[in-house]
Amino acid sequence: MNSRKRAYLEETVKILDAGRRFYLGFFLAHPKILMERVEVISQKTGEVKEALISADKLLTWAEFQTVATDAHPDPQPAWNFSQRFPDFPNRYRRSVIKDCLGKARGYLSTLSTWQRSGKRKGKPGIPTAANHPTLYAGTFTLELETLDLRKSFLRLKVYTGEQWEWVHYPTRYNRYFEQRRAEEGWEQESPKLILGKHVAAMHFVQTKTITAKKIVESKHDPDLVTVAVDLNVKQLAVITVRQQGKIIETHFVSDHGLDQHRYRHLKRVAKKQWKTGKAVKGERSNQDLWRHIRCQNRDTAHQTARAIVEVCKQYPGCVLVFERLRVIKPKGGSKSRRLNRKQANQLKGQINHLAKEKAYAIGVVSVEVNPHGTSQYCARCGGRGVRFTSRAGQRVTGKGGKLFFCPVCHYECHADFNASVNVHHSFFREFHWQPRLHNSG
Ligand SMILES: [Zn+2]
Repeated sequence: MNSRKRAYLEETVKILDAGRRFYLGFFLAHPKILMERVEVISQKTGEVKEALISADKLLTWAEFQTVATDAHPDPQPAWNFSQRFPDFPNRYRRSVIKDCLGKARGYLSTLSTWQRSGKRKGKPGIPTAANHPTLYAGTFTLELETLDLRKSFLRLKVYTGEQWEWVHYPTRYNRYFEQRRAEEGWEQESPKLILGKHVAAMHFVQTKTITAKKIVESKHDPDLVTVAVDLNVKQLAVITVRQQGKIIETHFVSDHGLDQHRYRHLKRVAKKQWKTGKAVKGERSNQDLWRHIRCQNRDTAHQTARAIVEVCKQYPGCVLVFERLRVIKPKGGSKSRRLNRKQANQLKGQINHLAKEKAYAIGVVSVEVNPHGTSQYCARCGGRGVRFTSRAGQRVTGKGGKLFFCPVCHYECHADFNASVNVHHSFFREFHWQPRLHNSG
C-alpha cells in the first residue's frame, strides 16, 4: 500500500479513538443509567428477573442523547456528537459506542466493588479510549472470491483527515482462513483493524461451537475408539486406532524426504556463515532459505494434522491421544545436524498443536499422556525390549534401529508402531511401566 493510503489508516484510527473518548466521557457522566437494573422477562421460562439494562437499549438511548436526526434535531448540548464529528459513519459510531459501553460498565463495576471493600489502595483507573477498531459490516467489504489470491483487496471506509472515503487496499490472507470461511459451522466475528508500525492487518476471529463428551465419561464407554499418534522424525506420524482392546487400523504418515531435504538446506545455511555475509550471486540468501524451510515445515504440519483428523472423522466420538512432547535439546553432530533436529522438534510441536485444533473443530477431544516408556516396552506383553535393524537376516541391536524386538514374548514389529500402540496403553494405564500415584517399583 502506498504512503497516502497508509496515512488514511492512521487518520481513521485517530478519529475513531477520538470518538471513543467522547462516548467514554459521555457514559461515565451518566453512571446511573449505565448501571440501571430493569425487569426482564426470560424468553425461555417466562420468569421475571432483574438484570442490567441491555446494551442495545443503552445504544439507542446514547444515540438519542448525542446524535442529531431530522425527528430529533437537538441532542444534549454538552454531548452533541453530530456537531463534533460531522459525517462520522453510523456503523463506526455504533462500533465505538458498543466498545465504550463495555469499557465504562467494566470500570464502574470494579469501582463499586473497590468502594464497598473500603480499601485505600488499588483504586481502579479510568479506562483508556484507544483500541483496535472493530469493523462492523458496512464499513468494509472483502473481495476474496477472485481466483488470484494476491489480487484480492479490501474496500475500507477510511478518514482522509478531511472526509470519509471508500479506499481499496490490497490484501493477502492465508488459505486456512479461506478454508474455514467455506466450511460449515465456522462463524466469523467482526474483524479488527490492527495497525502496526509497518503493516496493517485485519484480524478475523473465527469461532465454532463444539459439543464434545468429557474424557472421563468416554473412558467408561466399552466401545470407545481411541486414535493414538506417535510423532517421529521420518515417519512423521504413526496413527493407530483401537477399539475393545484391538488395533483396528494403522496409518503411517511419511515425511516424503523432508528431513533430508531440510538437512541439505541447513548445511548450506551453516556453510554460508563462514563466508563474508554477502550472498553468492544467483543463490538464495539465508533469509530466503529459512523462509523456505519454515514454509515447508508449516505445510507438512498442516498435511500431517489433516491426515490424523481424517482418521478421527471416521470414528465419531473417538478420543485422540498424543504423547506429551518432550523437550529434547539437540546434542552432538554437526551444526547443521543440530539445526535440523531442532526443526524436526518444532515440526512435531506444530503437528501436535494443529491436529488438536482441527480435531476439536470436528468435535473430537484430545488428551496427552505421559511419554514414559512408550518406545522401550513391548506393546504386547509389557516386557522391556530392544531396537534393532535387520541386516542380512541378522538382528543388529542399536539405538537408531527402526524395528522393535521383545525378548520376553518374542514380538517383533516396527518400533514406531510399537510406540503408537503403547500410547493407547498409556491412556488406559494398562501396563506396569505406566506411572501411577503409589508406585512401589
Ligand atoms: Zn513382549
